Amino acid sequence: MGKKKTISIVSVAAVIFCVMLIFYSAFLAKETGVEFFAMDTYIKVSAVGTDSAAACEKIQTLVNSLDTEMLSRQNENSEISVLNSNGGIMSEKMQEYILAMLGIYEKSNGAFDFALGSVSDLWGFGNNPHLPANSKIKSALEKSGADKLSISGNKISTNGAVIDFGASGKGIALDEIKELLGSMKIKNAVVSVGGSVLLYGKKNFTVGIRNPKGGSGSYIMTVSTPAACVSTSGSYEQYFEENGKNYHHILNPETGYPVDNGLVSVTVISDNGLASDALSTACFVLGIEDGMKLAEEYGCEIVFVDSRKKVTASDGIKDSLKITDSNYSFAE
Ligand code: ADP
Ligand code: MG
Repeated sequence: MGKKKTISIVSVAAVIFCVMLIFYSAFLAKETGVEFFAMDTYIKVSAVGTDSAAACEKIQTLVNSLDTEMLSRQNENSEISVLNSNGGIMSEKMQEYILAMLGIYEKSNGAFDFALGSVSDLWGFGNNPHLPANSKIKSALEKSGADKLSISGNKISTNGAVIDFGASGKGIALDEIKELLGSMKIKNAVVSVGGSVLLYGKKNFTVGIRNPKGGSGSYIMTVSTPAACVSTSGSYEQYFEENGKNYHHILNPETGYPVDNGLVSVTVISDNGLASDALSTACFVLGIEDGMKLAEEYGCEIVFVDSRKKVTASDGIKDSLKITDSNYSFAE
């Protein structure tokens, strides 16, 4: 009798212990964060789950190698630098990225042009921003553009045009990070790579949309969304002033000059990181009417902010948007 009682006390204790363990791993899962600099921008990771510490480390390694080995034009040995100089065989991943970008180039009628490298180099954003001579812009433009590329299977020749991941690399990083997190014990995570943010996990997230006139921590509205990639392209990201005029880093591929259409930022929400990043640039160039159509074609939600402090959003996201800065309001 006494023995039975002891056994049942032990088994009750074991059950309680197991329940506590499950409770701990489900609800008090570890949260880890890391911040680092890569891809010319700040990267911030916050992950919740048993593998959160390992995820932070692996994300750092992943982004650094994606940048230096594949996408960076600063590294002359990266895959894109070699392809830009000599053409050749693309890796499977490179082919995947370039075909996706080509699709957005075509659907945006060239507004997203990932082979404008020589033109954006002339503007010197990042190192030596200045107004280039008009003649230089014209001659660089003639040699640029994704229409110059010859692609056949996994072979590419750039024919003098320079492929640049400035408007899509951060989104590509989000896609690769998402895949990595899928293979680890991570409940949810938020990873921002510059103006592109990955919201990962089965919950609802609230993200802020930057105040074009404020610092990086200042928001004008919030969006509530399930897991997604959220990218913002803004004329405030990189700009300089010369002769009393502002010049920013999003270029009109037809002229080679910064887009001047009254927009200050465009945010795109998509399942896909590359699409969210590239489309935010494309729709900035296209303007509200055509940008709205392109976002719809890709099944994305979109938010435009213009210099009159008016906000225009796609129907699917309007109800989840809260303008928090009273200087801004929805356009009629
Ligand atoms: P950010 O890099 O600030 O997130 P974007 O994603 O909009 O901003 O990318 C801007 C960068 O993309 C520029 O710095 C330049 O390298 C490149 N770029 C500029 N104009 C275009 C364009 N029309 N299409 C594709 N890439 C562009
Ligand atoms: Mg972009």
